[in-house]
Amino acid sequence: MKATPEMSAELTRIGLLGGMSCESTAVYYRLLNELVQERVGGHASAPVIVWSVDFAEIERYQRDGDWAAQGRLLADAALKLEQAGAEAIALGTNTLHLVAEQISAPLHVPFVDLIDVAAKATQAAGYTSVGLLATSYTMASDLYPKRFATYGIDVQVPAEDDRETVHRIIYDELVHGVIREESRASYLAVIDRLVAAGVEAIVFGCTEIGLLVSASDTSVPLLDTASLHCQALADIIVNGVRG
Ligand code: GLU
Repeated sequence: MKATPEMSAELTRIGLLGGMSCESTAVYYRLLNELVQERVGGHASAPVIVWSVDFAEIERYQRDGDWAAQGRLLADAALKLEQAGAEAIALGTNTLHLVAEQISAPLHVPFVDLIDVAAKATQAAGYTSVGLLATSYTMASDLYPKRFATYGIDVQVPAEDDRETVHRIIYDELVHGVIREESRASYLAVIDRLVAAGVEAIVFGCTEIGLLVSASDTSVPLLDTASLHCQALADIIVNGVRG
């Protein structure tokens, strides 16, 4: 029997820099497809090209403090995604946005910056003070405070001990797909301490944290950057690149 042709929407192809870690890239892939399916219907799915790095190389450069090498590696990969037909590029990790300029500068297609997406969504939700959970590299940097300040949002990070716990659980457990009840309890305690310090909501500034903690675990409002980034990317896939 001949297949009935469907009305096919003109979808925009996304190039996704992934593998940082593969656990969160899998979330991106599933979510992008679910969101496009929800919005378009029929048999629609997300046109996406994934460039998945070897995370061991990235993690080694991070420990060595060689951020320029990570920027070079990802800028090269982003260009290859563009050459392969990607019409917009996304980097599916917060931490590597520390070198976002190096990655996006050579591109001729838009770079969909996760930190901007998170700041806009936080502002739209009406929060002016948020707590940030992320890798030590991100929490020690001005990546979030500086960008969020331009949207009138103050960013607080946990105390030093808590930052170490949050970082350790990301690298020793979450990037390996290990989910432990004990670690969830540790994160919830860190969240409670940030709320006691006066924040209104918590930003998951690391794409793996949503694997461990979800809205059903706490009454504190959560902003999961992996999910927000995918929603922004699904908008582009369905509505095209604007501006
Ligand atoms: N995916 C994490 C993030 O969003 C951390 C792993 C990495 O260093 O890329 O920051």
